[in-house]
Amino acid sequence: MPCMNAPWPCASLNPIQSPRKPACSSPAKTQKLAAMHELSLAESMVQLIEQAQQREGFRRVQVVHLELGKLACVEPRALEFAFTSASIGTCAEGATLALRYVPGEGICPGCGTRAAMPTLYEYCPACQAHPLTAVAGTQMQVRDLDVVD
Ligand SMILES: [Zn+2]
Repeated sequence: MPCMNAPWPCASLNPIQSPRKPACSSPAKTQKLAAMHELSLAESMVQLIEQAQQREGFRRVQVVHLELGKLACVEPRALEFAFTSASIGTCAEGATLALRYVPGEGICPGCGTRAAMPTLYEYCPACQAHPLTAVAGTQMQVRDLDVVD
């Protein structure tokens, strides 16, 4: 069943905020930390899906549609791996993750310029005086679930 027809509003799935921000810039050093980060996100996803199941009583989840911000410091393969293990024994076991990427975007606190942010640390391209504050692309969010009744 496509989620568009699901009786529960997708908007009620809360954004999953990164519990902390691991440094994206040093992958070697933070690899283990990053895997733990993905594991805690995967556990939050499973909790959220189980709450949706309690509300709606579907039997199984086939596809989890995720929006993944480019600045969310989430490594997709690590997330998939973590989700596979976190979902064992739940209605989401065996579900696939369908990822849609959201580009990073920031706003300058000085001059208000909005600009693309390829990384979390970018200076304002207009005034060069302030680091941009990220306003998009920092979250991971469950958008839709394809479920089996
Ligand atoms: Zn500026």
